[in-house]
Formats: sequence, structure tokens, C-alpha cells
Amino acid sequence: MDAWPIGVFASVDAGLGVAWNVISELGVPTIQLHAPSPEHRTPEAAKSLRDQLREMKVECTAVFGGFEGESYADIPTVEKTIGLVPESTRESRFSEMLEISDFAKVLQCDAVALHLGFVPEDAQAPNYQDIVAVTQRLCDYCSDNDQFLHLETGQETAAGLLRFIDAVDRSNLKINFDPANMILYGTGHPVEALRQLAPHVRSIHCKDGTWSSKPGETFGSEVPLGQGDVIISDYLTTLKEIGYEGPLTIEREIPQDPVRQRNEILHAITVLEDLKATILA
Ligand code: MG
Repeated sequence: MDAWPIGVFASVDAGLGVAWNVISELGVPTIQLHAPSPEHRTPEAAKSLRDQLREMKVECTAVFGGFEGESYADIPTVEKTIGLVPESTRESRFSEMLEISDFAKVLQCDAVALHLGFVPEDAQAPNYQDIVAVTQRLCDYCSDNDQFLHLETGQETAAGLLRFIDAVDRSNLKINFDPANMILYGTGHPVEALRQLAPHVRSIHCKDGTWSSKPGETFGSEVPLGQGDVIISDYLTTLKEIGYEGPLTIEREIPQDPVRQRNEILHAITVLEDLKATILA
């Protein structure tokens, strides 16, 4: 595949991606898929999606885990509900991630991804070692399935994420870099963070956002690509600098308004195609 194939974040029945039937309308060669809900995560369902993707000539480049009970309502709620960090749901969600890894394997997809949750910045935090341990177990399971595990960025600073990757110490642990999340969560300037995390970045999102007036306390706002504070041309130039050649996966997290979502993604595709032509020339 040529450098920077365009992609879109897609959903079957869960997550904030575009609906399955919109993928071919968009005409993109790659998708990242939000894992279907547990009852639709069977090997048969995976085989059927695999065959449909093959027919559409679309490659699935990562499967994202997500869980019942997660809420992105505000930053304190994210801290309490997202990923493998909350202790009360950690083991059951870990088991779900193993299912999702097996599901991705049937899809012949070599990357499983998730928002791990708020990893503490302080390695001495009481829950730190437990979060390291569950991530190691998940990496090892993915490794047995010949897969990488990609951590979605946003909830940690680049330095915090580097410390965590170091502590987990698994060669298949990588990063899915989302520049808008750095802004939405107020965790750092996206282009600087991308440079710091460069050796670990294996997939990325193309999403835009504006800073909150109280970064880190309240969310910034997600906006259509090109209208926010990411500065997409700087972002792509930096991706080129660091040698990233993987998919440019567009995210527009407004599934409640599918018409607008589809139109804004179509516009994002033209923005990215134009920038690609200039930057890769
Ligand atoms: Mg993202």
C-alpha cells in the first residue's frame, strides 16, 4: 500500500464511528473498526465482516476495544469509567479485550487498540503497577495472536505515556496518536507530543479540536478537520518528518448526526488528499 492511505473510523453497532454502510460511500481504502458489542463478536460475525471488507476492497488496520459503562461526559467521568484503569471492571474488561484480539485475528488485522484510561502521571501512584501488569498480560496475549496493542493518546502527557511504555516493556506495545485528544484533554501541544512519541507511533487519527478555556479541567471542543487548533498541515508535515507512512484515519465523533458526520468526513478527505499531494510530492 502507498504511504498515507486515507481511512475512517467505523462502527458496526457500538462506538462513535461511521455506520458500516457509509464506508463504501466514502470510497476509502482503509478503516479502523470499533469492536462490535459482545453478542456480535463471534468468529462467524468476524468472518462475515472480513468477507464484506474484501468485497469492498477495504483493509481493516486496527480494531478498537470499548466497553459498556464507559462515558466521555466530562474529564472526571472519563477518569472513573474508561478502559482498564477502573479497578472494579478491570478483569471483566480484560477478558473482553482477549475476545476482541481473537475477533481482530479472524479479520486478519494485526493491531488491537484502546483508550486504556487515565494512566497516572506518577509511577508511584498506588494503582500504577496493577495497570502496568494488566497491560503486560494484554500485550502478551496480542503477541500470541501476532498483533500489536496500540494505546490511544489523549489522557496522558507525552512524558507520562513514555514512562508507562517503558514500565510495560513489551515490544508490541505501540501508540495510536490522536492530535485532537491532546488538545481536548489539555495534555500537550500535539506536534511536540508527536515528535516525543515518534518511535512508538504505529497508527494515527486525523481529528481536530479547540482548546478549553480551562485545559485539563474541562474538555475542549471537537470540530471538523481543518477548523481547529491542530493545524493539519503542521501535523502531516511532522508525520512525514518522523517517517510515518501508515493510514490517515479520520475520526468525526458525531454519530448522533450521521448526515453531518458523513459530509464533514467527505470534506476531510479532500483536505487530506490536497495536503498529501503537496507534502508527499
Ligand atoms: Mg481518536
